[in-house]
Amino acid sequence: MANVRLEGQRLDPLGLQRGVTAVEASEVLDAGLLEPDQVNGVVDDALRVRLREPDRHLAREPEALHRRNSRIGAMGVAELAALIRERGPCVVLTGAGVSTESGIPDFRSPDGIWARFDPLEYGSIQAFRADPDKVWSFYAPRFSMLTEAEPNDAHLALADLERRGFVRAVVTQNIDLLHERAGSREVVEVHGSIRTSTCSGCSATYPLADVLERLRQDGAPRCTSCDAVLKPDVVFFGELLPREPIDRAFELAGEAKLILVVGSTLEVQPVAGLPLETLSAGGALAIVNRGPTALDALATLKLDGSAGKILAAVADDLARTS
Ligand code: NAD
Repeated sequence: MANVRLEGQRLDPLGLQRGVTAVEASEVLDAGLLEPDQVNGVVDDALRVRLREPDRHLAREPEALHRRNSRIGAMGVAELAALIRERGPCVVLTGAGVSTESGIPDFRSPDGIWARFDPLEYGSIQAFRADPDKVWSFYAPRFSMLTEAEPNDAHLALADLERRGFVRAVVTQNIDLLHERAGSREVVEVHGSIRTSTCSGCSATYPLADVLERLRQDGAPRCTSCDAVLKPDVVFFGELLPREPIDRAFELAGEAKLILVVGSTLEVQPVAGLPLETLSAGGALAIVNRGPTALDALATLKLDGSAGKILAAVADDLARTS
């Protein structure tokens, strides 16, 4: 799949199409206005994200759909376990919400990262090019926090379910490496990760440990050979997605009889199109998320609550009944 740009648009919950219409209120970061990045090995489309308050009228619909589809408690857990038993191995799509129980804030919750930092100033490739020291001043404490965090019950349950044949792969929007550290083997990182950073001058690659070392000094970390600023190998808003992982993610989604979304509002494109790929190929969608997502109306099952608690309970149920 080519021409993929990371965008954050609200999806039409009733439309089964990957190309979606932005129906956001006034404050939308249009990645089309940002310059494309020149990093090698990326596809030529970029990320958009909804910023701050959505249009109130538009926000009501997902809220209502969310209430209609939601199940909670032991019955919901048993239903999800049954769906996985019947349709698995499933492909799991995770977002920032799978890592909040490890102490890592998500983006859009009231105490999320974008409540304190303007993504235009700290999260876009345009901002990085204009002032890398400022963007690194945001990333430096994040790098330390992500490195110190430990996998939680949700990561551990997904790794366990993969070992037992119930999960085929985890596609993650997260950059924190926690699925890998929990023991998941097939992890597709569609927004990059903190594993490496690349020199913006000579393209030399630096592993996380080297970058952490350089971050102890002042300002942006720099290349030993050419002194240019390093860029973390995470996808910034307005930046291009690495082609191989996003192609693999769409391939997995198209083949899955069940896609399980965990901890994502499904508002960032193109990842939010993955469940639609599964649905249009005849598969089903299940969602575990605290609060509404853009695709609640299309889910066979929606469980609202803690990802750690729900997934641990689902893993227990499958261990008992399979
Ligand atoms: P998001 O912030 O838009 O949505 C997270 C969702 O998870 C929210 O609906 C929230 O209510 C829910 N949630 C929070 N804690 C939860 C929990 N314990 N159990 C169940 N649900 C919970 O995040 P997103 O959809 O992943 O947005 C995409 C962007 O966020 C991606 O680009 C991703 O790279 C980035 N991000 C990653 C990290 C990380 O690597 N850990 C952290 C913050 C943001």
